[in-house]
Amino acid sequence: MNNQKECPSIRSLKGVGEQRAKYYEKLGVEDLCSLLRYYPRAWLDFSDPVPILQAQPGEMVCVKGTVYRKQGEQRIRKGLSLFKVYVTDGEGQLVITIFNNIYAFQALELEHTYCFYGKITGGLLRREMNSPQVLDPDRESAIRPVYPLTQGLTNKMICTNMRQALKEWGDHLEDVLPQWVLQTYGLCRMRYAYENIHFPADRHALELSRRRLIFEEFFLLSLGMGQIRSRRREHTAFCLKDTDLSPFLQNLPFSLTQGQSQAIADCIQDCTGSTAMNRLIQGDVGCGKTVVAAAICYLMAKNGGQSAMMAPTELLARQHLETLTKMLRPLGISCGLLVGSQPGAQRRDTLKQIAAGEIQVVVGTQALIQQGVEFARLGLVITDEQHRFGVEQRSLLSQKGEHPHCLVMSATPIPRTLALMMYGELDLSVIRQMPKGRKPVKTWLIDSGKRLRALGFVRKFLDQGFQGYIVCPMIEETDSELVSLTRYQQGLQGTPLEGASIGFLHGKMKGAEKERIMEQFARGEIQLLVSTTVVEVGVDVPNAVVMIVENAERFGLSQLHQLRGRVGRGSEQSHCILISDHDQPATRARLKLLCQTNDGFELAQQDLKLRGPGDFFGRRQHGLPQLKMADFATDLAQLEQARQAAQTLLKQDPALSQPEHRLLREEVERMFAAQTSN
Ligand code: ADP
Ligand code: MG
Repeated sequence: MNNQKECPSIRSLKGVGEQRAKYYEKLGVEDLCSLLRYYPRAWLDFSDPVPILQAQPGEMVCVKGTVYRKQGEQRIRKGLSLFKVYVTDGEGQLVITIFNNIYAFQALELEHTYCFYGKITGGLLRREMNSPQVLDPDRESAIRPVYPLTQGLTNKMICTNMRQALKEWGDHLEDVLPQWVLQTYGLCRMRYAYENIHFPADRHALELSRRRLIFEEFFLLSLGMGQIRSRRREHTAFCLKDTDLSPFLQNLPFSLTQGQSQAIADCIQDCTGSTAMNRLIQGDVGCGKTVVAAAICYLMAKNGGQSAMMAPTELLARQHLETLTKMLRPLGISCGLLVGSQPGAQRRDTLKQIAAGEIQVVVGTQALIQQGVEFARLGLVITDEQHRFGVEQRSLLSQKGEHPHCLVMSATPIPRTLALMMYGELDLSVIRQMPKGRKPVKTWLIDSGKRLRALGFVRKFLDQGFQGYIVCPMIEETDSELVSLTRYQQGLQGTPLEGASIGFLHGKMKGAEKERIMEQFARGEIQLLVSTTVVEVGVDVPNAVVMIVENAERFGLSQLHQLRGRVGRGSEQSHCILISDHDQPATRARLKLLCQTNDGFELAQQDLKLRGPGDFFGRRQHGLPQLKMADFATDLAQLEQARQAAQTLLKQDPALSQPEHRLLREEVERMFAAQTSN
């Protein structure tokens, strides 16, 4: 906000001694500036009281009434005394009880009118309210801030200190936002925002202030991310010269979709420049991201560089290897695998070939980032299903080369604006359409009473030569509610699935065992794969057309969508049956949504609303500074505007080095410094 050094300590406020300053310190408040930034977590609105006669028992309400009788202390027992205050609004009456607080009792004057906020108890004939929040409308504004508290600090203390801080420091506040930003986006000034976020004159003023502070946070965040982005533009040794893709394209069994072509074109453009590519390819499950990666691997090999592709599971790594081998080996490019479960001798051999540059495209798991893995000429690094990897792991892989180009592939279809924030240092290509001929998966929600019928439905497909999945939440039956994998392993006699060839797959199995089963499934020797969520990411068997998900309520929307993406990969109409006995309306609404739409972007947006970005990405992995006022899920429109404004500003002053941007630069630094210190 303002020059930190000049901002007076919190101790300069009346009533703040050593002890209280310590309490404030716990909240991260050390001076008047940080106090002013300590925003309420909610506001109690006394501006719209209901008539007492309309207040229903059990409700939290605000009523307004005049004190007509006071009844002094009654000692109930040791340590418990109460006071009664009788209030009327002309028509209804309310009995207010105050416990153990003679000051609160004395503060209420006879014949004076107050607002009371609390829960109505008693009955319709005698309404009561215990220890309400009281507001004196003659002396206070009708909207009261509610601060997050810590032991030793009351809301009242913070209010008092805040008032004084505003009075004493308000005039020294210099607006962080440039004048043109305020004007272009219709934002109120900082002084006004601080006054009205803490002590709103009315609801409108509160809304204006909130809007301004949300914008400000997003603006600072965008500036910071923008700067990180430009800092990471590293020079690279692997500037692609030969960009002729035609042999690669001729070898493909299909032609590319427009989105795929565009993504490849974006990558080529990046890789022919002198700085390293940093690109995120985002596209719904099944849109065909792998071929984009393969195309760039092809060019990299043609230009003498190696590529490394890291997948989150061995299963996926093996599958990628197979796909890439099919696309690249006929063109004379060698591909290899590096995963944890490889036997020592084989591993040493592979490592040698990688170090010698004999393997041009290496696919693997996190085994790729271990010590001892050395590349001859690593020019391209690809990570698949990005949300499983932290930024950290991505950069470890990059460090195996000298500023290699980076490509990240993600099926999590987060809204564009958010993606630009999350992966601030990455450029973004989005693949929106699916390859031709795909039919959207039909999805149903049923309860377990219909399980047998669902199994019969699956059996019919198996008998026609198709394959299917059953997904269960976990391996062991620890929770009687859960239909576990074990239960499937034990009891299919007498069900429609009896006699079908079934493979079981779960996370605790050894890599080789998983691989064997997956291979059998891919070759069609196994008809039905019963598994935990290990099939979630990326597994591709187009002949699988039907899926059952047990205890569907256990999974998030996006996760279910990913799971469902395992079917619907061929031209046959596919089906997904969600089984859940949960009848919570929110859960049902979530699952129904899945039945209504196949659009991963829409589902992601909903998921974001329901669960917030923290859960959505795994809290640590989203890696953004904590925001105080703004919310990624609900304030997306603001985020977009703030991002635009930040871009405009950065174009003109990329390092924020101009004198009039000093304050901004300091604020951005502060925001990001706070993040790294947590
Ligand atoms: P994802 O984006 O989920 O990683 P994949 O790369 O696994 O998708 O591709 C899914 C399936 O679609 C694969 O079987 C792949 O061969 C096929 N595919 C990809 N692109 C096309 C295309 N342009 N036309 C037809 N099929 C395609
Ligand atoms: Mg994939």
